[in-house]
Amino acid sequence: MKMMEETFQAAWQAIGGEMLQQPLWLINSLQPYDWGTTDVLPWLLGIENPQQQPQAEVWVGAHPKAPSQVVFPDAQFSLEQLIDGQPHAILGARAIQRFGPKLPFLFKILSAKKALSIQVHPDLAQAQAGFAHENAIGIPLTAAERNYHDANHKPELLYALTPFVGLVGFRPISEIVRLLVLVGEHQLLTWAKRLQKEGETALAAFYSWLLLLSGKELDHLLSAAGPSLQFQHEPAFAEVQRLAQEHPGDSGILSPLVLNLVSLVPGEAMFIPAGTPHAYLRGTGVEVMASSDNVLRAGLTQKHIAPDELLSTVIFRSMTPDIMRQPANKQPMNQIEQRFPVPVDDFELSIIRLQSGDTFPVGLLPEVELLFCLKGTITLTNAQGEPWTLTPASSVLLPAASQGWQLSGHGKVARVRIGPSLMH
Ligand SMILES: [Zn+2]
Repeated sequence: MKMMEETFQAAWQAIGGEMLQQPLWLINSLQPYDWGTTDVLPWLLGIENPQQQPQAEVWVGAHPKAPSQVVFPDAQFSLEQLIDGQPHAILGARAIQRFGPKLPFLFKILSAKKALSIQVHPDLAQAQAGFAHENAIGIPLTAAERNYHDANHKPELLYALTPFVGLVGFRPISEIVRLLVLVGEHQLLTWAKRLQKEGETALAAFYSWLLLLSGKELDHLLSAAGPSLQFQHEPAFAEVQRLAQEHPGDSGILSPLVLNLVSLVPGEAMFIPAGTPHAYLRGTGVEVMASSDNVLRAGLTQKHIAPDELLSTVIFRSMTPDIMRQPANKQPMNQIEQRFPVPVDDFELSIIRLQSGDTFPVGLLPEVELLFCLKGTITLTNAQGEPWTLTPASSVLLPAASQGWQLSGHGKVARVRIGPSLMH
């Protein structure tokens, strides 16, 4: 560790501290998960994909598994190394005070052709307790059965770049009952009766039953339900059939009967709070999340599922997904920037749309900011120095030590900062 620090310091000295008064140009890595599309991210990044391999996510940030790289004229660092070496100059005092010397958020462009696993994320208190407990009983951090990889929560926001379909939170009980009756299979009818009678109090029992169905029981149920699923015009049934093809034998197949089916049009966003089961089914979008790997899976996956831990984390309550459609700007001067306020302060996403002739200030505060160009050609300038030109999929981090920048040009930029303080 000491050795690494010395190496970093030596390399850093050679570059000079004034480099952090400039934007940091990021080189981001691509994650080739099998649920990814083959064409969208290569198109966005302007790279070839001759083997037509799935390309699922671009990661922009300092996550230890795939940190963005920062290239200087005489050296290259990962953003993680750079933050470890120069936390104050990059993150700024407020971020360090609130979140410690780490980048509190991770930014992704995600492009799904097939469903991702159904997931639930713990809240902060559950993550802290779960992480401490698994450390105490000696489950290695790398073990497949490890549920808590850190002590942080993982709230997330999805902003649709194309039409985007997902499952989020429990449907109203009356809706679940309606769908179960429409399927008409006898076990589901029994559950429909119980849910109608007991309401939300029966939701946990029903969901556990669904989660623990064996592949054989599920096949049996699906073949009995087949004609209803096939011949009734019900969007949830179409999704069940699609999932049955993508993930045969997986108990997550029936989730569209229980979870809200959400379709976002480009430009809409949704926030996923802790304790809410969700799955992204298809589409391309920006995802911003708190820096954490705490994921409890609930189906549509080959990975480890821990039913007890999962069921203790899920909030068994019907909810209406929080879809953000209209600009939430209060200041009329701020029309260029559309902010997506979330109930956490780990991150805040905004979208900046510029027409020729517009200018917009960024990097006003001594705090870290991330800019990712989604469209067009955008110029970043400050009082001194050469302008920086951003084209689609290029990204820069504005260090806290680098202030007073201005955007101009024609296009669209995603901006992530730490959120406004929640303490009043
Ligand atoms: Zn998630």
